[in-house]
Amino acid sequence: MCGIVGYIGTEDAKEILLNGLEKLEYRGYDSAGIAVANEQGVHVFKEKGRIAALRNVVDTNVETTVGIGHTRWATHGVPSRINAHPHQSETARFTLVHNGVIENYEQLKTDYLAGVELQSETDTEIIVQLVDRFVNDGETVEGAFSHTLSLLKGSYAIALLDNQNADLVYVGKNKSPLLIGVGEGVNVIASDAMAMLQVTNQFVEIMDKEVVLVTRDEITIKQLDGTVMTRSPYTAELDASDIEKGTYPHFMLKEIDEQPFVIRNIIQKYQNEDGSVRLDEDIRGAMKSSDRIYIIAAGTSYHAGLVGKQLIEKIAQRPVEVHIASEFLYNMPLLSENPLFIFISQSGETADLRGVLVEVKEKGYKALTITNVPGSTLSREADFTLHTYAGPEIAVASTKAYTAQMAVMTLLAVDTANARGIELDFDPIQELGIVASAMETLCDQKEKLEQIARDYLSITRNCFFIGRAADYFVCLEGALKLKEISYIQAEGFAGGELKHGTIALLKTALQSLRLRHKSM
Ligand code: GLU
Repeated sequence: MCGIVGYIGTEDAKEILLNGLEKLEYRGYDSAGIAVANEQGVHVFKEKGRIAALRNVVDTNVETTVGIGHTRWATHGVPSRINAHPHQSETARFTLVHNGVIENYEQLKTDYLAGVELQSETDTEIIVQLVDRFVNDGETVEGAFSHTLSLLKGSYAIALLDNQNADLVYVGKNKSPLLIGVGEGVNVIASDAMAMLQVTNQFVEIMDKEVVLVTRDEITIKQLDGTVMTRSPYTAELDASDIEKGTYPHFMLKEIDEQPFVIRNIIQKYQNEDGSVRLDEDIRGAMKSSDRIYIIAAGTSYHAGLVGKQLIEKIAQRPVEVHIASEFLYNMPLLSENPLFIFISQSGETADLRGVLVEVKEKGYKALTITNVPGSTLSREADFTLHTYAGPEIAVASTKAYTAQMAVMTLLAVDTANARGIELDFDPIQELGIVASAMETLCDQKEKLEQIARDYLSITRNCFFIGRAADYFVCLEGALKLKEISYIQAEGFAGGELKHGTIALLKTALQSLRLRHKSM
């Protein structure tokens, strides 16, 4: 699932859309495209590969103040120019971009689009063809759009242009993130607020299965049955400079260096004037009253969750289970009487976590989201949110968000201990301050670390991280990070487990190292 942008205002839409897509580039994508509208109709430009390649094919002479754009991460059909979005209907009247996956697209094709010759291999194209079909059948465009969305199963964030009305963009979403940014005489659409900060920092949330009609001066939010909804914008607390990498060669290095600052920021945000820990009363109440805590997470956040379990059990003396979201969904464990769910997600948009959250809410349980993006889906839909205050994390391999999650869970554990009257023999704020300074010391040793990496990792293809207790969980994350970044096969092991089989691999690895050294 990649990025969507949209613009309707008074300036050159092409440039704003391309800039917006560039802000989403870091998420990875295989192709990109924009569609812009003017009196002459809708013009589509798309290309496989980078936004720079797309820029080369955009006709700079087209004058336009309205458009939609997309970066694609293919799910249905190979990455290619034809499969890139935007997609157009058979009559070319409608043009659409879509993030997500339409699970019933084959069925919809059979049921409604028998005579239509599809241009692409995507699931997306059937959406735009359906709108055209329903308009042909006599429905209004808005009616056809809502009708189409009501038939879709799966996830979608959609923006649609009608070449007979260049002053309106149709928008809808389900399970995929999408926001409307509002300005004076200008409105924008973005799957991530960062993409459109160049225009506004005021954003309106859209809920699942809502339809939004966006003009320059107005946004009208409706439910699929036509009920009009009113909602005020919120301020996206993001700084555009946070998403520039400055003098750093990579965002990841910049984000590693930001860790001490992030930890100090967290201390500041969650500290009372007297130096004690301060969390939301309701969170404190929920933690205190639950008989068991279930942490649900995935990837790096799951590893942070494993450390969180140790922290909460040791400091607050509450039992905790940690589950991988995708597993939990298909293999739910026996739950306690009064569980509290904690969802950990950097972006607050992780689809597997959302699946569990929906289920948990249906059962009437309380949920807390720990995220770097308040206002994200998981944050909105949970009862409580704890913000990790790490600032935008652009690198796909998480670093500062991971350490921030553990710092926030430390404070959560301490706050719960306080609520339960447990005496602590350490000052958590002081301890976190020490952690921040230690991080600084480590970050200052980059050259030494680089040398170690050169000495040991340039000649190996496998690496084992071995640790015990909380260190074991850190080892799991260390291995994941090394794998992600260097493509070296890496595994994290609990110290005592090494002898159960893995040791055989170590011998082989040592032998091959010796052989290699000999031949060098
Ligand atoms: N499923 C659509 C496709 O394969 C959209 C993928 C995306 O979210 O980028 O084209």
